[in-house]
Amino acid sequence: MRIDLHTHSLASDGTVAPADLMTAASAAGLDVIGLTDHDTTAGWAAAAAALPAGLTLVRGAEFSTYVTVPRSIVSVHLLAYLFDPLDPVIVREQERLRAERLQRGLQMVELMMADGLPITQEQVLAIAAGAPVGRPHIGRALVESGVVGSVDEAFDGYLAGRGSYYVPKLDIELLPAVRMIVAAGGAPVVAHPRGRGEGRALTPQLIAELAAAGLVGLEVDHLDHDDVDRAELRGIAAELGLLVTGSSDFHGTNKKVQLGANLTDPAALEVLVTRTSGVTPLVTA
Ligand code: AMP
Ligand code: FE
Ligand code: FE
Ligand code: ZN
Repeated sequence: MRIDLHTHSLASDGTVAPADLMTAASAAGLDVIGLTDHDTTAGWAAAAAALPAGLTLVRGAEFSTYVTVPRSIVSVHLLAYLFDPLDPVIVREQERLRAERLQRGLQMVELMMADGLPITQEQVLAIAAGAPVGRPHIGRALVESGVVGSVDEAFDGYLAGRGSYYVPKLDIELLPAVRMIVAAGGAPVVAHPRGRGEGRALTPQLIAELAAAGLVGLEVDHLDHDDVDRAELRGIAAELGLLVTGSSDFHGTNKKVQLGANLTDPAALEVLVTRTSGVTPLVTA
């Protein structure tokens, strides 16, 4: 059984439409796919309607959160599975995050334009096409305008968190975000906890606090983690009774990783489902 629990579609910063992503998942030999667009559930309906026979859909989302540590703020991504998409607190938070992404994206483009880079706000909005604006959309504008050869290159030169065009956005704090997802009947899982600097914030102590607040798992098997990261996270998960998940974090052509690059154990998914309210069940065609 091949389970990939974290992917992005055109509904956020992927490059494949939700329906086509389901077909691609089937073609990639997956049995279960998690659709976890940033800050939106807009792709859920189209994905569910397009499920090929034999493929199971886990409806989810990925929230951008922050943790305060001495002298800085660390960005942490939180996966949320099978929550109630109509929960008023979630709806309001997703609306706020999307507005925040729009303002922040436009500000980053403004800084680039002021420096003479040949992209426009209209161009980035057209690329995002109504999806919550993310840095990969700006990266695609930079590719389109011939500034860089790939979105990866755009991150290296123009979009990175420490770069001169970076504008932060106001995310939700991690612990309240975990509580928000639990209250909406969903299962929260920390995405790539050792991805890019998250380790400064996600100490075993904080993870224990999150577990006490209802955190269900850690995404251990992810492209951004080396063997040392994975071993450390497996140890923490075992100690705290947290599930271990794995995924590709597929973003279409915005990233090189392919569907199924990392997988989740079927037993982990089974337990994950028992930790949800059932208001948003698994969907199988
Ligand atoms: P944002 O949510 O707008 O802050 O942008 C972060 C998104 O950019 C995440 O979804 C990442 O998957 C993606 N990302 C981060 N670094 C890179 C990179 N080097 N190449 C391509 N995509 C990246
Ligand atoms: Fe993304
Ligand atoms: Fe992420
Ligand atoms: Zn992701």
